[in-house]
Amino acid sequence: MNLILLGPPGAGKGTQAKRLEERHGIAQISTGDMLRAEVKSGSEIGRQAKAIMEQGGLVPDAIITAMLANRVSQPDCARGFILDGFPRTTPQAEALDVMLKEKGLQLDQVIELKVDDAALVERIAGRFTCAQCGAGYHDSFKPTTRPGICDACGSTEFVRRADDKAETVAARLEAYHRQTAPLLPYYDAQGKLRQVDGMASMDEVARQIEAVLGR
Ligand code: AMP
Repeated sequence: MNLILLGPPGAGKGTQAKRLEERHGIAQISTGDMLRAEVKSGSEIGRQAKAIMEQGGLVPDAIITAMLANRVSQPDCARGFILDGFPRTTPQAEALDVMLKEKGLQLDQVIELKVDDAALVERIAGRFTCAQCGAGYHDSFKPTTRPGICDACGSTEFVRRADDKAETVAARLEAYHRQTAPLLPYYDAQGKLRQVDGMASMDEVARQIEAVLGR
């Protein structure tokens, strides 16, 4: 099963992709996570992407599509994958179509998480993750059970993304509406687009996604 989760930053794509990964044994592919790892390692790709990401812009299509082609060939994608944060532009979507065709694969569904822009800034501004295991939390919606201690691994170190600042979020939303939202009619025309209510609780969104997948 090969899926795309589409929606603006803060819509919950990462959270839902992780659940799908656990439930269906298919790989979550987050181009944002991959780029953050490149930045952290100080690689050439990371060097090129860093300033763009900090400003909330999109990294050039050629870099992203090469990175993705490499990733979908990894063994953990054999049973399928969930694309989280890719494609973000029409050229990326077209490159994906070609890539899948060459590999004899097909896209099963594109699931849009529909959310109001007004809710996104609050959702994004409160996000943080455990520095050790990567478990995700939110100041208001999903705090740790014991203050300052990760529920999953007990670590006391947490990190916040540099691009989750309110100023950058506005640029990221603008990039979504201008460059990524045109993919909704693109996939609708292919008969692949399904919508779920991204404003609902995490459990309810997961339930709606499972309903869309027909299980
Ligand atoms: P994300 O974690 O998906 O919100 O991505 C964080 C940042 O990484 C974005 O704001 C972009 O700067 C960059 N990025 C991630 N995925 C892509 C992509 N498919 N195309 C271009 N830039 C991307």
